[in-house]
Amino acid sequence: DFDIRNPRQKSDQDFEKALRPMQFDDFAGQDKIIDNLRVFVAAARMRHEALDHILFHGPPGLGKTTLSNIIANELGVGFKVTSGPVLDKPGDLAGILTSLDENDVLFIDEIHRLSPVVEEYLYSAMEDYRIDIMIDKGPGARSVQLTLAPFTLIGATTRSGLLTSPLRARFGINCHLQYYDHKVLEGIVKRSARLLNVPITDDAALEIALRSRGTPRIANSLLRRVRDFAQVKGTGTIDSKIARYALEALNIDQYGLDDIDNKILLTIIDKFHGGPVGLGTIATALSEDPGTIEEVYEPYLIKEGFINRTPRGREATELAYKHLHRTRAQASGS
Ligand code: ADP
Repeated sequence: DFDIRNPRQKSDQDFEKALRPMQFDDFAGQDKIIDNLRVFVAAARMRHEALDHILFHGPPGLGKTTLSNIIANELGVGFKVTSGPVLDKPGDLAGILTSLDENDVLFIDEIHRLSPVVEEYLYSAMEDYRIDIMIDKGPGARSVQLTLAPFTLIGATTRSGLLTSPLRARFGINCHLQYYDHKVLEGIVKRSARLLNVPITDDAALEIALRSRGTPRIANSLLRRVRDFAQVKGTGTIDSKIARYALEALNIDQYGLDDIDNKILLTIIDKFHGGPVGLGTIATALSEDPGTIEEVYEPYLIKEGFINRTPRGREATELAYKHLHRTRAQASGS
C-alpha cells in the first residue's frame, strides 16, 4: 500500500531537501516562534556569541530540522547533524563536539533517545563547553578536561514527555511547533509547486492542504504524487479536478487522517461507546504506547475537533461519528 507518512526512501529525502526553506523568510507559519528566533539570532550575531541551546518539540514533519538548518544559516555558522540513537557511546559525541568550530550549531534529532551515559556526558558540554576525555589505555589511562569551542545545541523531539528534567533544564529556549492551518499549508504547497515547476490552481493547492494533516512534509509528499497524476492522466497542470481524482486514487482521507488516527477514533466509538475512556485503555486496545498517542496522534485529533479531552477521559465528537459513518445509537449498542 502507498504510505505517505513514511517518506524515508532516498528519492523522497532528495525531494525534501530540494523544497527545504533555507531562510526565515521562506519558512511559512509558526509566526510567534519565528519572531522570537529572529531576535535571538540577531542578538547572538551582534555579540559574536553562540546562541543559547534550543529545544524544538512537536509532531514529525512540522519543520524542526528545517528550522535548525535555517538558524545556522542565519547565524552564518556551520551546521552538523546527528541523532539520539546514532550516538552510542560518549566517545561518539566527543568526536562531534571537538570537531565544531566557534558558534556552530549541532543538531541532535530524536534527542529523547540518547542513552543515559551519553546524555550525562552532554551536560557539561552544554553548560560550560567542557568535556572529559580518556587518554591512553590500561594502567596509564587518565581523564583530561577539554575546553570546547562555544556552540549551540539544537535538540528536536516528538516526545518531549520522555526528556529527563536535567536535560530539559539545560535548554535556554524551548519551542513547541504547532500543526499548520490550511491557509499556511496552501502557501507551502504553492511554493513547492513553483520550485518543482508545476502549474497549480489555488483550489487544487487548498485541496492538497486540507488533506495534509496540518503537516508540511505530508503536503509536499501529496503534491509530488498528485503531480504524477497530473502529468500522466491530465494536462500537466494541477487543478482541483485532477487533485481530487489523485487523492481519491491514493486513498487519502478527506480530513487527512491516517490509519492510526482512524483506529483511535474507531476504538473509542466501537469498543468504548464513544467514551469517555482513559488514554491508557485506548493505548492497550491498539497495542500502542500511550505517550505516542498523547504526543503524536491525539493533538491533531483534538485540534480538528474529533476528540474531546474530559476529566474522565477521551470522548469522540459528533464529527468523529459523522466521519466514520457511525451513529451514537450504534455505538451505545441499542
Ligand atoms: P521535522 O524535523 O519536524 O520532522 P522537517 O524539518 O524535516 O520536519 O520538515 C519536513 C519537510 O517539510 C521539509 O523538507 C520542508 O521542505 C517542509 N517544511 C517544514 N516546515 C516548513 C515550513 N514552515 N515552510 C515550508 N516548508 C516546510
